[in-house]
Amino acid sequence: MTNHKFPQTIAIAGAGLLGRLLAWQLQRAGINITLFEAGSFTPDAPQSLRAAAFTAAGMVAPLSEAVVSDEGVYRMGIFALQQWPTWIAQLPANETPLFFNNGSLVVAHQQDTSELEQFERELGFILPGCKGYQHVNQHEIHQLEPDLHSNFHSGIFLREEGHVNNREFLRLIGDELLKLGTTIREFTSVEALPGKIVTDSSEEHFDLVIDCRGLGAKKQLRNLRGVRGETLHVETKEIHLRRPVRLMHPRYQLYVVPKPNNRFIIGATQIESEDRTPVTLQSSLELSSALYTLSPAFAEARIIEMDTNLRPAFMDNLPKVTIVDGLITANGLFRHGYLLAPAVVENVLAHIFKKTDPVFSALLNHH
Ligand SMILES: Cc1cc2nc3c(=O)[nH]c(=O)nc-3n(C[C@H](O)[C@H](O)[C@H](O)COP(=O)(O)OP(=O)(O)OC[C@H]3O[C@@H](n4cnc5c(N)ncnc54)[C@H](O)[C@@H]3O)c2cc1C
Repeated sequence: MTNHKFPQTIAIAGAGLLGRLLAWQLQRAGINITLFEAGSFTPDAPQSLRAAAFTAAGMVAPLSEAVVSDEGVYRMGIFALQQWPTWIAQLPANETPLFFNNGSLVVAHQQDTSELEQFERELGFILPGCKGYQHVNQHEIHQLEPDLHSNFHSGIFLREEGHVNNREFLRLIGDELLKLGTTIREFTSVEALPGKIVTDSSEEHFDLVIDCRGLGAKKQLRNLRGVRGETLHVETKEIHLRRPVRLMHPRYQLYVVPKPNNRFIIGATQIESEDRTPVTLQSSLELSSALYTLSPAFAEARIIEMDTNLRPAFMDNLPKVTIVDGLITANGLFRHGYLLAPAVVENVLAHIFKKTDPVFSALLNHH
C-alpha cells in the first residue's frame, strides 16, 4: 500500500539497466510506473539502439574496478555482491543461474609479470589491509581453472568478485514488469523534465520523472560522454571456466567471462569515441589473440556474435544521482553498471521513500 506522501505516478525514461531495476522495485512497492524506451523493450531484438546493459559482460568486480577508480567504487561494489543475490531471489526460479560468486582470476604471461605486480601494488595502495585477494602460483592457478594454458606462473585470485548472467536477467525482469502491470511505451524517444515526459507529439505529467536514459541523456547532461566498447562472443565445449579471467598486458587488459551454454564473452576495448559502428578488424584480432593465449583450446571456438556499444560516463568516470523537484537523474555508470547499479538504485529509492540517511549519499548525490 503506497503512503500518500510518496509519489503515486512515476515515469521512467530508459529501459536499460537502471530503468528496469528501478521500475521493478517501485512497481513492487505499489507505485504506478510508466516506462519509456526509445528502442525495443525486448533487449535482444535486432535494433540500432540498445542498452549498454545488453552489451555488458555483467562482471561485478569491486577489486578490479577499484584499481581504475577509487575506494568508494569498491564499497559500492561490495554492497552489490550482497544485493544481486537478494534481487535474484525476488524473481521466479530460473533454469540457468543468474548470479555467480566464484571470484575472478587475473593472470599475465611471464614477460608481462610487471603488469601483474603493478596491479597488486595498486590494490594494496587503494585498499590497504583488504583480505579479498591473494597471490596464486602455477599450481593454484591450475586448481582454480584447470583448462587455462599451463604457462601461467603467477596470478591473483580475487575472491570478492562475481558476475551476473545479465542478458537473461534483463529478459526476466522485463517479463516481471509486464506481469506486474507496468505500462511500457517502447519505440518512444522522450525528453525527461521535472514532472513531465515530452515526446515529439505529446506531453504527459507524472508526480515524479526518473531519467535513466544513459547516453541518450547527453543533450541535457553536460559532460556526459560515450566510451566505445567492443566484445566478441564465442561458443565451445572444449573449455570450461568457473569464473572471469583477466589477462594483464602492457597495451590492454582483456577478460573472458563464462556464460551459460558453453558461451564466453571476450571484452572489452575501451576507446574514447562515440562511434557505434561494428567491431574493427584490429579490435577483433586483439580480443581473439588474447583469448587464444589464455588457452589454445579456444582455437576451435565458434564466433557467434560481435557487439559494440557506448558506456555512459561523466568526466570523472563516476556515477551521479541528481535530484530536483519532480526529477531524479541517475547516470554515468561508465564501465561499472552492474557493479554500481545496486548502490544507485538503493539511493534513488531512499530519496523517493524519504529515508533520512540515503545509502552512499556522499558518493552519489549532486543537488
Ligand atoms: C562493452 C561493455 C562492457 C561492459 N561490461 C560491464 C561489466 O562487465 N560490468 C559492469 O558493471 N558494467 C559493464 N558495462 C557497463 C554497463 O553496461 C553500463 O554502465 C550500464 O548499462 C549503464 O546503465 P544505464 O541504465 O545507465 O544505461 P543503459 O543500460 O545504456 O540504458 C539506457 C536505456 O535508455 C534508452 N534511451 C536512450 N535514450 C532514450 C530516450 N531519449 N528516450 C527513451 N529511452 C532512451 C536506451 O535505449 C537504453 O535502453 C559494460 C559496458 C560496455 C559497453
